[in-house]
This record gives sequence, structure tokens and C-alpha cells, in this order.
Amino acid sequence: MKCYNHHDRDAFGICTVCGKGLCLECMNNQNAVITCNDKSCIGKLNRTKLWKTFLYIVLVALILLLIFD
Ligand SMILES: [Zn+2]
Ligand SMILES: [Zn+2]
Repeated sequence: MKCYNHHDRDAFGICTVCGKGLCLECMNNQNAVITCNDKSCIGKLNRTKLWKTFLYIVLVALILLLIFD
């Protein structure tokens, strides 16, 4: 697979949002999650992360309620 932006370079990673191949220069590494430098991909990833954090907090709260009830 070649980089989406540089067709002469091999891809080192794949955007987890849109699935484009990315060379080292085009990779955007956010807490070990790789995306391309597309703003919509970075934004989408951040929204997904917020949801995951929210669900995690709800889950922990439920567990705590079950333990201390
Ligand atoms: Zn992308
Ligand atoms: Zn590239």
C-alpha cells in the first residue's frame, strides 16, 4: 500500500477513520491512534474519544452504585 498523498512512498500506517494509507510524514498520531491530517478525521476521532470517556464514566458509576448499595 502507498501513501494517499505521496504515491511514491510506502504507507506505514492507515487512518483509523477513513482508511487511507499514510507515510510517516502524513501520519497524525493521537495517543497511539493514527489518523491522517484531515481535519474531519481528527474531529471525528476526538468525538469518538469523548463518547468512550463518557460511557466509561457511566459504567464506573454503575459499578460503584452496585457495590455500595
Ligand atoms: Zn483520515
Ligand atoms: Zn505521505
